[in-house]
Amino acid sequence: MAGAELRADVWINEYLSPWDIYSHGVTRILAAARTQYQDMQIVESGLYGKGLVLDGKWQSCTGDEFMYHEPLVHAACVLHGAPESVLVLGGGEGATVREALRWSSVKRVVMVDIDGEVVEACKKHLPEMHQGAFDDPRTELVIGDALGYLDDTAGEWDVVISDLSDPIEEGPSFALFTKEYFEKVKRALKPGGVFVVQSGPVSPPEIEAHARLASTVRSVFGASRSYASYAPSYGAPWSFIIGGPDPIDVPGVAAVDRLLKEQGVTGLRMFDGEAMQGVFSLPKHLREAIANETTVYTMASPRKFFGKNEVGAAN
Ligand code: SAM
Repeated sequence: MAGAELRADVWINEYLSPWDIYSHGVTRILAAARTQYQDMQIVESGLYGKGLVLDGKWQSCTGDEFMYHEPLVHAACVLHGAPESVLVLGGGEGATVREALRWSSVKRVVMVDIDGEVVEACKKHLPEMHQGAFDDPRTELVIGDALGYLDDTAGEWDVVISDLSDPIEEGPSFALFTKEYFEKVKRALKPGGVFVVQSGPVSPPEIEAHARLASTVRSVFGASRSYASYAPSYGAPWSFIIGGPDPIDVPGVAAVDRLLKEQGVTGLRMFDGEAMQGVFSLPKHLREAIANETTVYTMASPRKFFGKNEVGAAN
């Protein structure tokens, strides 16, 4: 084909929809296993550095993970103001914990991930992601199901971050994008606590699923506030939803920058006061879809994410 010069022999074909595939050319496979819960690969890609792939879904990669992890964590922490206790549900690579630890007010971060084999592989092969976060004395790692952990904690957390893999039907997070799960999260929060959930892509065909998840968050917390960042290796703008009492107001540029400074939050690559305004400034079609949606995901009728993909040779 004119102009095409493919450089890889192995490709990760991520099925974004029944009609779209995003193929990442792989230069090295660092780890590959079928764990108790999911298929896992840690690979080096030609363009985006090292990445974690679970059940064929690209979780994050060193080339652009900051465009996902920084807004995920710092928006919620800014809305709280001075979080001391942070609960990360999921979080495999350790980069979400890494970001929470930047806040000087943070005294305790617990990360609950179901898959010890994935976490151990990330510790070994993705030091660029965790940057020693698992060894910080404020960090506690729990290997277990987020749903089960939430049953044993109440009124304890300033910020809860749901950094779970997308809910494909065969995957371990399938029940965790539902009203029942959010109710458990709400019980776990202190008064004034802030919840954020990574809520998947928001390209036009996927907006309805986002809007339904926002409606689910709203049904439990009273209010939701969606925002989106573009980490290009996901192939679509990526969304997050904050849950809390109404109204959820985003502070101005100067106030955010002042707070980050007071909190000693340094080393950020994309997030600051101006970027926070940017990620919360959603386009009209997305705001309207969110405002008009009333469907609520429940365990009996959960969100089903498209997927289960393949890793293999190009054909
Ligand atoms: N950025 C990500 C994405 O794009 O989907 C999510 C990152 S993180 C790697 C997702 C983690 O959620 C994985 O390590 C997986 O083991 C964990 N996970 C899935 N289901 C879980 C559950 N029920 N309880 C706790 N952790 C879970």
